Amino acid sequence: MTERYLAARLRGFGTTIFAEMSALALATDSINLGQGFPDVDGPAVVAEAAIAAIRAGHNQYPPGPGIPALRAAIAQHQRHWYGLEFDPDTEVLVTAGATEAIAAALLALCEPGDEVVMLEPYYDSYAACVAMAGATRKVVTLRPPDYAFDPDDLRAAITPRTRAILLNSPHNPTGAVLSRAQLEVVARLCVEHDLIAITDEVYEHLTYDGVEHVPLATLPGMRDRTVTISSAGKTFSFTGWKIGWVCASPELTAAVRTAKQFLTYVNGAPFQHAIVTALGLPDDYFRDFAADLSARRDLLAEGLRAAGFTVFPPRGTYFVTVDAAPLGATDGLAFCRELPTRCGVVAVPNVVFYDDADAGRTLVRFTFCKRREVLEEAVGRLATLA
Ligand code: PMP
Ligand code: GLN
Repeated sequence: MTERYLAARLRGFGTTIFAEMSALALATDSINLGQGFPDVDGPAVVAEAAIAAIRAGHNQYPPGPGIPALRAAIAQHQRHWYGLEFDPDTEVLVTAGATEAIAAALLALCEPGDEVVMLEPYYDSYAACVAMAGATRKVVTLRPPDYAFDPDDLRAAITPRTRAILLNSPHNPTGAVLSRAQLEVVARLCVEHDLIAITDEVYEHLTYDGVEHVPLATLPGMRDRTVTISSAGKTFSFTGWKIGWVCASPELTAAVRTAKQFLTYVNGAPFQHAIVTALGLPDDYFRDFAADLSARRDLLAEGLRAAGFTVFPPRGTYFVTVDAAPLGATDGLAFCRELPTRCGVVAVPNVVFYDDADAGRTLVRFTFCKRREVLEEAVGRLATLA
């Protein structure tokens, strides 16, 4: 029935896989290792700051670009971690999560018919937002085991209609972290073809094994042609608060703001105050959180290996991607739909993040942003699959 009403440009987008799989987890009382959200809240001091902000009366519309204290804290974060300078008044914009920032950037920057290059597997909102902008996606496939892209593929994806490259690192769903060498390839092509880069860095603090996240905006020629996007959800374990942001040149920020103001206008007044507190946490908070998550990654990755999956070890994010083919899977979507009844665990099929379905046919994503005891129980259940 939906198809009768849904505009042509949104046909085929249906329900997001995260909603489908979380509903399945609830319906089957399974352990939900599908949708990436932590089962423990972030720092109490940050939660208390939100409560204090509500009590202090920060409950009406905040300023369109975000409260000044948060824009200043975001600018300070970019300076502190990456040596990037942004003017909080003209080069920082607070958004309703990274999701709105991505939508606003694509809607603001693309003409109908423009092409946007993205890596696949891609986060599902990218394709939908490119479609809403009337633009077309061109994908470059990341391939296991290391999930790097072939520079020739990226070069070949660029045409005279290319407007932007939309990049996600650390990368969901593979957990790959783009190396400096790969980012240099992207930067050179952006400069050569006068392209805008839109970077989704929501997992910027979740890298493991000493791997460093390098923002594309730090590379030569990129500072003023990159729309850097991040959000507080993953870094501080408050995914439901939906406080995100954009850092970019004044011209790009103004363009994105133009679209953003007609999407949500503003959001999350008290949470904006709380994220000022969060961004001001000592460096140890960020390092300890990543170290803790990497130990949970190891636990889950080892359990998945023992259960018979081929595991592609992630260097970042909340997620580990595995190949379910050794367990007899020929279709990851069917495998994920059956997994709850087979063993009481929910995962996400990577195939929905690919245009080239064959490239992701039997790949499946599990999240490890859950308590150890939950992961241990899940691993025990998965062990019964073999
Ligand atoms: N980008 C990626 C790659 C993600 O995994 C997510 C998941 N939440 C988002 C964007 C959305 O971030 P937010 O919740 O801040 O909108
Ligand atoms: N980013 C999370 C994931 O990839 C969830 C996002 C969502 O539900 N839209 O699982």
